[in-house]
Amino acid sequence: MVNVTYDSVEKRYGNTIAVEDINLTVDDGEFAILLGPSGCGKTTTLRCLAGLTEPTSGTIKLGDYDVTDVHPKNRNAAMVFQNFALYPHMSVRENIGYPLKVEGIDGDARAERVQEVAEMLEIPELLDRDIDNLSGGQQQRVALGRAIIRRPSVFLMDEPLANLDAKLKLSMRSRIKVLQRELGITTLYVTHDQEEAMSLGDKLIVMNDGHIQQIGTPDEVYHEPKNRFVAGFIGSPSMNFVDVEIDDSGTIRSMNATEGFEYRLESTVADRYREHGELTLGIRPQYFTAHTEPVDNAIRGEVKVTEPQGDDQIIDVLVGDEEGDHIELTVKAPSTVEAMRNEPIWLTVDDPLVHGFDNRTGERIA
Ligand code: ATP
Repeated sequence: MVNVTYDSVEKRYGNTIAVEDINLTVDDGEFAILLGPSGCGKTTTLRCLAGLTEPTSGTIKLGDYDVTDVHPKNRNAAMVFQNFALYPHMSVRENIGYPLKVEGIDGDARAERVQEVAEMLEIPELLDRDIDNLSGGQQQRVALGRAIIRRPSVFLMDEPLANLDAKLKLSMRSRIKVLQRELGITTLYVTHDQEEAMSLGDKLIVMNDGHIQQIGTPDEVYHEPKNRFVAGFIGSPSMNFVDVEIDDSGTIRSMNATEGFEYRLESTVADRYREHGELTLGIRPQYFTAHTEPVDNAIRGEVKVTEPQGDDQIIDVLVGDEEGDHIELTVKAPSTVEAMRNEPIWLTVDDPLVHGFDNRTGERIA
C-alpha cells in the first residue's frame, strides 16, 4: 500500500489550462474524492495519476516513487470507468481474469483468484455469463472485480456510478465503501455528486475551474467551507447567499435595499462580522425557522412555491417586491408548517450557524 502525492501539477491543452497548481496527498489506505462541477479538472487530475494524461509540469509520486514519466502499465494503478469498459466478447470469468492473463498468471492460480474476487463481489453465479446480457449494476461489479484482481497499489474510479439508476447507485455506493475498507487500497474517486462524495470519502478535494478550492473531511467542508464556492457546492438544497451591510447594533440589511430583509444578529455573531461593514451572508435552508404568524426580529417574505418532501418541505420565499428589488430564499421546514402560496411568512435564523463571506474575495470570515 502507498500514499499518493501531487506536487504543483499542471496540465494545459494549448492555451486551455485544464488544471493548475494541484498539490495534494492521499494517505495510505485513504478514500479520497475529487469533487466539483463539470469541466473543473477532476478527470484530468485522475488521469495524470493513471498515466493516461501527461502533466505539462509538476510531479506525481506513489510512495517515494516518482511515477510522472512511468508507463501506465508500470504504475500498479487500477482504473474503473463510468462506461465500465469491459470486453464484450468475453465471459465474466475472462473479463475479471484478464489482468492476470496479461501478467502470465495461468491455470489454478488465476481460477482461484477469479473465484475469490467474484465471491467478494457476490457474483460467483455470473462467472460464465456473457457481458452483453448483464444489468448495469452487474457489469459495474465485473468492472470492479477486474480492477481489484491484481491487488493494485491505488484504485482510481471515474464516476463509476454515473450510469446506474438511483436505487442501484445507493447499493453500489455502500458496496464500494465496504470493499475499499476491506481491501484498504488507497483510492482516488471522481464525482460531481456532492452527496455521493460526502457519503464515501474520508477526504474531499473540492475543485473549481482547474484549481483545488478546499481539502478536508466531509464534516470540514460542510461546516467550515473555505469560501463561497465550496459553501454553495456542498449541501442540498444549496446555501442561500445575501449581500448585506451590518451596523453597530448588529442589525443586518440587504444591500439591494430590499424591504423586509432586516434582522438583528445575536451579539456574539455580530462581533464576528461588524468590522467588515459589508459582507455576504450564507444561510443553509434548514437553518431558518418558518412561522406563519408575525414574530419578533424576523425576515418577512411571501411563499412562492412549496415542494413537499415527506416529513419536510422546501419553501421558496420571496423577500421584497417581485417586480423590483427582491431576494429569493430557499427554506427547509417541517411539513407541519402551513405555508400557503402567496401568503406571508416570517423567517427567523439560527444565528450561530450562519456563515459570513468577504463580498470581494468570497473567502469565509472565520
Ligand atoms: P466532467 O465532470 O464533465 O468529466 P471534469 O471535471 O472531469 O469534467 P476535465 O475532463 O478534467 O473536467 O476537463 C477539464 C478542462 O480541460 C475542461 O475545460 C476540458 O474541456 C479540458 N480538456 C480536457 N481534456 C481535453 C483535451 N484532450 N483537449 C482539450 N481540452 C481538454
